[in-house]
Amino acid sequence: MNAEIIAIGSELLLGQISNTNAQFLSKQLANYGVNVYYHNVVGDNRIRLTEAITHAQERSNLIIFTGGLGPTKDDLTKETIASVLGRPLVSDDEALDRIEAYFQRRNRVMTENNRKQAIVIEGSNVLANDHGMAPGMALKEKNIYYILLPGPPKEMEPMFINYGLPFILSHLEGTTQITSRVLNFFDIGESQLETELLDLIETQTNPTIAPLAKDGEVTLRLTVKHESRQAGNKLLDDLEQQILKRVGSFFYGYDNTSLINETLAVLRKRNITIASAESYTGGAFSALLTEKAGVSSVYKGGIVCYSNDVKRSLLHVPNDVIEKYGAVSSECAKHLAENVREILHADVGISFTGVAGPTKLEGKEIGTVYIAVSILGAETQVYPLKLAGTREQIQSRSAKHGLYCLLKQFNKGGNKI
Ligand code: ATP
Ligand code: MG
Repeated sequence: MNAEIIAIGSELLLGQISNTNAQFLSKQLANYGVNVYYHNVVGDNRIRLTEAITHAQERSNLIIFTGGLGPTKDDLTKETIASVLGRPLVSDDEALDRIEAYFQRRNRVMTENNRKQAIVIEGSNVLANDHGMAPGMALKEKNIYYILLPGPPKEMEPMFINYGLPFILSHLEGTTQITSRVLNFFDIGESQLETELLDLIETQTNPTIAPLAKDGEVTLRLTVKHESRQAGNKLLDDLEQQILKRVGSFFYGYDNTSLINETLAVLRKRNITIASAESYTGGAFSALLTEKAGVSSVYKGGIVCYSNDVKRSLLHVPNDVIEKYGAVSSECAKHLAENVREILHADVGISFTGVAGPTKLEGKEIGTVYIAVSILGAETQVYPLKLAGTREQIQSRSAKHGLYCLLKQFNKGGNKI
């Protein structure tokens, strides 16, 4: 396949943003031996986009578009491609349902132009947008493949990896079947993960490895082309083993899972209840846990102990602990976790005390964080962490870290519960 990437958006031409989408896509395609011969950038202009498409049709058999799938007037990618291909635009029921649900969840009225986002080119495979509204599309016409992706990288990257790439791979010459497996990691950055696995990523041709960062987590999608499912799974198993040998301590689950799903599964399986005491996170952990319905069987509740007064009066942290070590300390975290467990009659107590910023506290740096886990009948574990980011990022990352600490603790085994 000879590929060409057409990025659409006047802000690219004005130099207001860089074309990182083309960079991302090229890098991905190179992993699969697909030649990318041209990058093109066009403004939000129907005539010039038409020219770009007809030109690309003469020299490329895979054309990937990014941008211009949104609801506004300047978004005209699919309209222009449909018109060049002479295909009608139709409304996609599934995409419309997803968009309606998106507005309902936010309790907002859907405006008419949002319906436009559910319109797709007739006969195309609709690529779901798991992080936004406008769906993507993949289609084939006269031996040329067309892939349409949204502009925002946060939406485009997962859509390409999860739906666009499998579409392309399934049409590559010599391909029989494709199987993918996703490994989920936490507490390791995308670049560190890539560095640890660089030789594997660079030399693997089958299976291939595609890293993707999302919300402070990293996933690796392993994709294998195979004659039989059994042979494919064997290749995936071998590669997975090599990967986990190096970065297994950061791995927490397969495929479409999440930290919250994994943690809830462990708590439910073992019939464990938990309670939380949160200082600088202000309830972020509690909010994360209660995002899922039906957690009442495992989550007793939490106390937001933002002030030292509440740490002392409601959570019974001894005054001399706070005076001697400070509220941001391993000792205070330990008392909070143990006491909240007892006060709320839970099997496990988890606590968060730290500095979210924007200023230092007790002379401690922003991002200094202590998470403690107290399990009935076991020694309390304190996890001291140094987190980076804004106040909000430190709070939300801490909540995820809390889940990760719980998982680590339970997966270690040997606990009484
Ligand atoms: P939306 O629904 O947000 O309008 P869209 O598919 O219509 O999405 P655009 O309107 O073209 O996409 O772009 C939206 C935003 O996505 C841009 O403001 C920019 O931040 C980002 N973006 C678009 N194209 C690129 C690109 N080639 N590289 C990096 N970022 C891009
Ligand atoms: Mg737009």
